Amino acid sequence: TGTAATAGSGQQTTLGVMGGGQLGRMFVQAAQAMGYFTAVLDPDVISPAGLVSHYHIQSDYLDQQGLAQLMQRCAAITTEFENVPAPALVTLGAHRPVAPGAEAVGIAQDRIKEKAHFVRCGVPVAPYAVIESAAQLAAVADDLLPGILKTARLGYDGKGQLRVSSRAELAAAWDELKNVACVLEKMLPLQAECSVIVARGWDGSCVNFAPQLNLHRDGILAVTQAYEGNMPSALVQQAVEATKSIANELRYVGVLCVEFFLLQDDSKAAQTLGSLIVNEMAPRPHNSGHYTLDACDLSQFDLQVRTLTGLPLLQPRQHSPAIMLNLLGDLWIDGASPPWDQVLALPGAHLHLYGKLKASKGRKMGHLTFTGATVAEVRATALAAARLLG
Ligand code: ADP
Ligand code: MG
Repeated sequence: TGTAATAGSGQQTTLGVMGGGQLGRMFVQAAQAMGYFTAVLDPDVISPAGLVSHYHIQSDYLDQQGLAQLMQRCAAITTEFENVPAPALVTLGAHRPVAPGAEAVGIAQDRIKEKAHFVRCGVPVAPYAVIESAAQLAAVADDLLPGILKTARLGYDGKGQLRVSSRAELAAAWDELKNVACVLEKMLPLQAECSVIVARGWDGSCVNFAPQLNLHRDGILAVTQAYEGNMPSALVQQAVEATKSIANELRYVGVLCVEFFLLQDDSKAAQTLGSLIVNEMAPRPHNSGHYTLDACDLSQFDLQVRTLTGLPLLQPRQHSPAIMLNLLGDLWIDGASPPWDQVLALPGAHLHLYGKLKASKGRKMGHLTFTGATVAEVRATALAAARLLG
């Protein structure tokens, strides 16, 4: 039983989103294109999603009055960032359809629970140890070094993690991270990184986009390549199946992204663990799926609307090869202004800016997607844009 927006009935169906960032903005825009009203809950006076939504409830995520207002307005509620406090989703979920639910978000928020879930699903993860006490720190196997120490909670874009190559460095790093709960992961020889986005409905049906190949710079996604042949075909099916089993086991409803490592073929790690390792998941649309706005007949945000409202889920079809370039605040620093007149003269360029008023280093301000008739064409235009942007 889908909740379609009811044009002409004199009543408006409103969809809500927890969080006002760019992902919320693109959700709001997809919902509005289908005739919904939207409400955003975000503490900031000005936020990318709040700026374009019919309603903006300016309150903290755990504020009972704010949550009550959101429920009053909305027929169903979703989230746009994984650090929405799970208790807020519990409150909302008691009265309204909320997707994804508190339990799934709570697992994705915590690397310890997340890794345990992956292990439960039988998908390979990097060898790791949980470090919550001095005793666990002392008991770490030498084989996990060199490794990466990651805080269990609140890490993103490479923040909250330190690389360590000896036990002494590990101990110092755990102190530097204030002895909070962490996981230590063995450093693996990466060949590449990819991600898979699925959308799963209330009835358990699940559709997916093809795996995207992702290049990071300084821990932040820089480029996504989305076209056939972007990665070894033997691993495509494996990555999609792993992502679906992760979503199914969570009884997940909504859009889910799982990030993977592709290991160097000839490495010892690849021989013992296999070539494909699951890294982490995001309980929401993902930066690596922004190309779907311009290159697919249904975007990841369209599917977020459809899963939330129980409307039909169709397997999305990609109608063009695509390359996405992230636009970070660095491009605007010191009053600089990117040469849009030249960039937009390139065929197949789609510019998306998130309406952020202040640029800072590493801040995601927008993205550019290139579509075209062939992979070669898309690569050439994306490369030309990258040169123009320096
Ligand atoms: P974040 O939440 O910041 O995205 P990730 O766990 O995805 O954190 O780590 C950020 C990046 O660090 C990854 O995209 C990858 O490039 C690198 N990385 C993380 N874990 C490992 C590992 N075990 N071995 C090698 N590289 C890693
Ligand atoms: Mg990551």
